[in-house]
Amino acid sequence: MTTPDNTWGLPRELIPWGPTIDPARCRDTGECVRLCPNNVFEDSSANGPTRVAHFHQCTIMCSNRVAVCPNGAISFPDQDSFHATVSELRKRTRSGAGSVTS
Ligand code: SF4
Repeated sequence: MTTPDNTWGLPRELIPWGPTIDPARCRDTGECVRLCPNNVFEDSSANGPTRVAHFHQCTIMCSNRVAVCPNGAISFPDQDSFHATVSELRKRTRSGAGSVTS
């Protein structure tokens, strides 16, 4: 799925922002699935436990789902390292130095 560029100056697929679920903590309660407006999460089913099904649909810098998880199973990237990564990707994009995906 191709997503349009955004204010970060990089294709969304290259921006490493989104949730991670700790399977050891997740109890498949479903709050994240029900409360995420961007359908980032998929509930437990025949396919297995609750999972992050659409990572790049997460609104960049949003971490609201951390608070809704009753088991502390959801985490997001550290903001400082995230910004460092994005600025490095931008530099590489601007300089055309090799492919930004490598
Ligand atoms: S809210 Fe937390 S415990 Fe519930 S399904 Fe989502 S990640 Fe798992």
